[in-house]
Order: sequence, then C-alpha cells, then structure tokens
Amino acid sequence: MRGRFAPSPTGALHLGNLRTALVSWLQVRADGGDWLVRMEDLDRVTASLDHERDQLSSLAALGMTPDEPVVRQSERFDRYEDAISTLRAQGRVYECFCTRREIREAAHAPHGELPDGAYPGTCRELSTTQRAAREAEGRQPALRLRAEGERFVIDDLLAGRFEGGVDDVVLRRNDGVPAYNLAVVVDDAAQRISHVLRGDDLLTSTPRQCLLQDLLTLPRPTYAHLPLVLAPDGSRLAKRHGAVTLQDLAERGVSPTGVLARLGASLGLCSPRDSVTIADLVVEFQLETLPRTPWQLQSTDL
Ligand code: GLU
Repeated sequence: MRGRFAPSPTGALHLGNLRTALVSWLQVRADGGDWLVRMEDLDRVTASLDHERDQLSSLAALGMTPDEPVVRQSERFDRYEDAISTLRAQGRVYECFCTRREIREAAHAPHGELPDGAYPGTCRELSTTQRAAREAEGRQPALRLRAEGERFVIDDLLAGRFEGGVDDVVLRRNDGVPAYNLAVVVDDAAQRISHVLRGDDLLTSTPRQCLLQDLLTLPRPTYAHLPLVLAPDGSRLAKRHGAVTLQDLAERGVSPTGVLARLGASLGLCSPRDSVTIADLVVEFQLETLPRTPWQLQSTDL
C-alpha cells in the first residue's frame, strides 16, 4: 500500500488537515505500507517554502514523517504539459477565454449531476472568428478538457458508492499554471499511490480525475473520502475559527500528544484524555469503523 498527504503549503495545517493526514498515515501504516507527502504548490503566488517547512514540522510533531523525499508540484510542470499534449492529440483540449465572472453567470442554470461550479461549455465550439475576436481583446486562454458526458461510479471505502459526471474541467489556467485535477492524476500515478485518502470535499471532483486517468491510461487508486471537520457554526473549519493549529493549541497548553488524543478520539480510536502515541492509534485503527459524519467542534474546543 502506498498513500499520501497532499497539502497546499499556503499556511499552517489546522485540525482538519492534520486529521486527514493522520487517517491517511494510519491507513497505510496499519498495512505496513509507505506514506508520502506531496506539496501541491502549483500556485507560486500563495505557496511558500516557509509554509512547507512549517507543515512538515507539524506532521512530524504528531509522529508523521514521509518515507520518501517530499515531491513539489512546482518542480513538475513539464510532466503536466506532457499530459496536456497527450490529451490534445486525442482532440480533448480546447481554449477557453471566459472570465471568472462570465463562468459564474453562465453556470447559474442547473446542470443535473455535474460537480459544483461545473463549466457550461461556453467556449467549446468557438468559430475561428470568435476566437480571434477574444484574442484581439488581449484575453489569455485557459485550456479545458473536452468531456463527452462521461459518468463514473466510485466505490469509495468511506463514502460508499458515488456516481457523478464530468464537466469540461480546466487543465491549464489562463496564467499558465497547470490545474489541480490534472496534476493530482499525473502525480498519484507517478508516485504509484495505491490508496488516496482525503477530505470529502473532493469526492465530486473524483469523476473528473477518473476520466483523466482513463484518457492518459493511468491506473486508478482506491479512494476513501473522509468527512471534514466543521466549526461550531457548521462551516468548514478554517484558521479564523480560533485555536486550530498546533501552534495555537500549544499556546493554550495543549501538547502534540494532547492533539493526537483529541484527533484519535474524534475517530473513535481512544478517549480524548488518554495519553496516546501514534503507534497506539495504529493498533486500534480500522478504516471500516471510522465515523461517516463530519466532526463538528464545539465553541469550548476553540
Ligand atoms: N491539495 C488538496 C488540498 O489541499 C488535496 C488534494 C488531494 O488530496 O487530492 O485540499
């Protein structure tokens, strides 16, 4: 088994990120496999090496160190461009000149079961004249995948059976940066990842990744999508909610061991007051028994 944690190094990891990393680590370690970290630092404006170092030290403080050198997506653009060339040769790539605002406005109509923010296909069939007009306005095109109404069924180890469609997902942004869905598929295959465990906010993107795997003839990992950690108001946990990073918690007197016990308790693996080690959690770990609902924090937790 080979698993990975793939954060974007854009800030300190919070309890939600750490919990996902922990479950991925436990899944792989319980099987005696290798656990990797990949920095999804495609966006060089928001990502930094300082954040990368800080994230790796948070993981290490909880007992998680990668078994292979950390891979950075910012150093692998040539691989993503090769994948785009392969898709282009299949007639599966087109230029999209839409602005974010145009996409938002056009995306108002419901699209059935397509993922959130699904692109309505505005630029799919542009004529040469229409394309030239957009270029003359100085617009830089993004590249999109030409999807053909494909649908995929995913037998997710945590979310169960999920079926979803694929839209014309972005492959390269209009600033030249390769897009997440393309990079993740290329890298999971290149790193021979057999098991992807990540937040369930990415479940609806998984059919997009399945189509890209098929078109690029890459193997499909086994997926497990973990429910997110929620703030007391029900929104997705973020730094603004309070004491959520290891540093915040240390300032309140909660040691890494205390954090591990809280995370372990949220997964039903120990009591929050236990003095646990990560090795104790591996002994208790069984993916099938993990909670299938989000972990909602109370205001007293923060
Ligand atoms: N980089 C993504 C994130 O931070 C995770 C991608 C993945 O696990 O596939 O949400």
